[in-house]
Amino acid sequence: MIAQNLAKIHNRINTVKHAQKVTLIAVSKTKPASDLQQAIDAGQKHFGENYLQEALEKIQALKGQDLIWHFIGPIQSNKTTKIAENFAWVHSVDRLKIAKRLNDQRPENMEKLNILLQVNIDNEPTKSGLLIDEIDEIIPHFENFRNISLKGFMCIPNPDHSAQSFAKMAQILNKYPNLDTLSMGMSSDLELAIENGATFVRIGSDIFGKRA
Ligand SMILES: *Cc1c(COP(=O)(O)O)cnc(C)c1O
Repeated sequence: MIAQNLAKIHNRINTVKHAQKVTLIAVSKTKPASDLQQAIDAGQKHFGENYLQEALEKIQALKGQDLIWHFIGPIQSNKTTKIAENFAWVHSVDRLKIAKRLNDQRPENMEKLNILLQVNIDNEPTKSGLLIDEIDEIIPHFENFRNISLKGFMCIPNPDHSAQSFAKMAQILNKYPNLDTLSMGMSSDLELAIENGATFVRIGSDIFGKRA
């Protein structure tokens, strides 16, 4: 079932006309390692997790298979050490303090930790992320960080008008010639996200089924 679902997602991605490279992240929060193993057996490499403790258990259970782990959930400061030690990408950085901690705690013998800034693109009070006006102010600070590398942005738009929000996100990325990564699009709106320049899509329920 999971293998068929992955094939369907690849079909959906390929059906959308796009020039950029699009990488599928399988979002596996709340799902057991055995489900992830099915996806791995079908060729899936990138996994996204929201909750640190369950993510660490799955990373341990599935090690040795060349997987690329993405942390995509809210980050409390007391969790940054383990995130810095166990992930390749973090999509949900929304304040300088967290970026600094990840930089200081990334082990020197590992490759740089790839960072995306989460943007609250629709300025919604219930959502985390930087406001658009705060982006310019935070970006120059990344020049001081040796162990992390800022790549681009992540957003979770309001579903009522996600196409406009994805387009806005693409315009923001365009302002920064050194950045090239846009993490946007979930099960219900991946086509719109790709049309608007997404380079990572984060798909959970359409691969693993509904979450409890
Ligand atoms: C859960 C989650 C997803 C996947 O959502 P689906 O609708 O299940 O595809 C993507 N991104 C983030 C940040 C999530 O928390």
